[in-house]
Amino acid sequence: MFCRNCGKELTGSPEFCMSCGAKPMAGTSFCPGCGAPTTPMTEICPKCGTRVARKAAATGSTWMPVTAGILDLVIGVPSLIIGIIWATLGGLASWFIWFIGWLGAPIYGPMIILSIVAIVGGVFALTKRAWGFALAASICAFIVGLPTIVPAILLGIPAIVFTILGKDKFK
Ligand SMILES: [Zn+2]
Ligand SMILES: [Zn+2]
Repeated sequence: MFCRNCGKELTGSPEFCMSCGAKPMAGTSFCPGCGAPTTPMTEICPKCGTRVARKAAATGSTWMPVTAGILDLVIGVPSLIIGIIWATLGGLASWFIWFIGWLGAPIYGPMIILSIVAIVGGVFALTKRAWGFALAASICAFIVGLPTIVPAILLGIPAIVFTILGKDKFK
């Protein structure tokens, strides 16, 4: 093999390079298979085809966008259903469902729109695409949860936090 730090050919796979003293696989400057120069971004050696870098491990916060997406849907889907019932039957019918609501004010229009954004963006978050839209969805989920306060605090705020913290997991 070749030392990935200094490029010297080594016999066997020693723990430390006898030329530079580094762990031979710790560097990123040379291919371990043929000794050709590589960059830290190189994954497959262009010269010999050796896989140079371990595939970037999808560790850590991949669950964050997924959780945010689920939270968006948990708020968005019932809100959309309630919004549609409200729009169809009038404030009184939905009053009993959304019983701590906005004192019966006809807000089902914005409620339906916010719910749809929360659902669509929630799906984007689940599939880790379109971060901006996923963030908008979490904010909409928070707003649409506000009338009953508890969903906004328990679901909406975590959805926003997880979307922001999980940003680098989005494509
Ligand atoms: Zn070396
Ligand atoms: Zn190579």
